Amino acid sequence: MKISRILKGAGIRSSYGTMGAAGVVLVDDTKKILVDVGHFGNRDALLREMGKSQISPDQIDVVVLTHINWDHCLNVDLFQNAQIILGENELDRGTLSGIPDGLSPAFKEYLSTLKVKTVKDGYSITPNVSVIDTPGHTPGHIALSAVNNGFLTILTGDAVPNLRAYRRGVPDLAFHSEALARQSVSKIKGMKPGMIIPGHDAPFTDDGYTEIDNVDIILREEQEVNTVISVGKVTSDRPVVFHA
Ligand SMILES: [Zn+2]
Repeated sequence: MKISRILKGAGIRSSYGTMGAAGVVLVDDTKKILVDVGHFGNRDALLREMGKSQISPDQIDVVVLTHINWDHCLNVDLFQNAQIILGENELDRGTLSGIPDGLSPAFKEYLSTLKVKTVKDGYSITPNVSVIDTPGHTPGHIALSAVNNGFLTILTGDAVPNLRAYRRGVPDLAFHSEALARQSVSKIKGMKPGMIIPGHDAPFTDDGYTEIDNVDIILREEQEVNTVISVGKVTSDRPVVFHA
């Protein structure tokens, strides 16, 4: 088994709104499993990075959508050959925006034209890779456990979007239920993973990051000076809870 980050996830917020950089991870086991697919803003990057790994979208056997928030799922149409796996409650009650919106019904209708399979906790994609129910961020959020020679990696999606969420025991955003979101973080911790690959951050262990990611934000080049980029000056908000 080989686990590689195709797109790095980051939590990029600005005074203009969020940039929605969800990670995309390839788990290459007896099947090629892609976990989350990003959105239109990183479609080119997704195809470019897959190309570098010498893999084309039609070679992906399984796409796991940890949930259907827009930043994780909008490139799903690139994977026409793949089985698309998502949580049962996510297909029923999940939305693109996290809250009720007018676009999600059409997206779900599109999903129904693909090879969609809804799954429950414990569903095995391969003997080494299985689904973990992790609701709270959204109604049917799922994470993935991947065991390689006894070493457990958990791909947490937005159940644990970053190291900060892991340490404080709750994700930044709980669209569905803060209580369930907390339980899901505890459940993941209780599995004692050797490595966490989160939805919007670099991989980490209990001890901290195992890789450092650099993000270049390019707003203006040459001599233009009308846009100012501040790095590291915005303080973290308290968790935002909807539908508590
Ligand atoms: Zn996300």
